[in-house]
Amino acid sequence: MIDQLTDTLIAFGPLILCLALFRLAELFAPFEKAQAPYAYRLLLSTTLYLTASILTVNLLPTQSQAAALALQWQISADFFAQMPLAVSFIITLLVTDLAVYFSHRLFHQVPVLWRIHRAHHSDTSYDTSTALRFHPVEVLINTALTLGVIVVSGLPLICFIWAEGVLLVINFYVHSNIVTPRFLRPLSRLIVTPEYHKRHHSDAGQDQMTNYGTVLTIWDHLFGSANPLVQGFAPAAPAHFTVGVGQPPERYNAIVGLLADPILPNPVTPPAPPTQQDQRD
Ligand SMILES: [Zn+2]
Repeated sequence: MIDQLTDTLIAFGPLILCLALFRLAELFAPFEKAQAPYAYRLLLSTTLYLTASILTVNLLPTQSQAAALALQWQISADFFAQMPLAVSFIITLLVTDLAVYFSHRLFHQVPVLWRIHRAHHSDTSYDTSTALRFHPVEVLINTALTLGVIVVSGLPLICFIWAEGVLLVINFYVHSNIVTPRFLRPLSRLIVTPEYHKRHHSDAGQDQMTNYGTVLTIWDHLFGSANPLVQGFAPAAPAHFTVGVGQPPERYNAIVGLLADPILPNPVTPPAPPTQQDQRD
């Protein structure tokens, strides 16, 4: 019993700590009032997260097994073994973040993948509970991608564990309902901020095809997907706009609807409200 509790704390401790810290920040200094109840949305997103964890543990090899396989690529493993660990870590972070950038971009541009990623964007509020709201199939695909990078690159396993820690913290930070603190704003030209990533969650379709970066904004600038309204830094007056997928929320307010969403018929887009011109016609 004690051993099980210890294992659970080791597995989920950093995640619970990040969730608690950023939740406290958004409780004490929220950017805007929540559009939907937090507790119920957190229940939905943690159920998705736990489902994803169970599937990942049972269906995919561990990072250690991937690293053992990588050691068979003697050339790259030997090469990185001679390199200072700090340099290997920076390379690992860049490689992982670039892989996640392209994966995220494909989840938006390939229709069958968008059906899977839609669960994340269907949240009608934007806060720390959104950080856990991913369809389990998306988590499986991204975990398999990371394992592939471990095997092919031959970079040290410990660097991937550290990079995973950075991604965990940044994932909660960018999904928090807070404004970037003034002292962090110079850094935010390089690092994704809540203002930068929230624009990607706008219910305007064209905004969702921008700002794919997770940790660094450089990939969006290099590959032409930076949103011209944000430009990679925290604006002096963050904008208020609606997030979501522009659909009635019923399907996305129940765990069965969220899990089944990829195989259900596409939701019907509500007709646009009439313009003044239509009303005159
Ligand atoms: Zn997205």
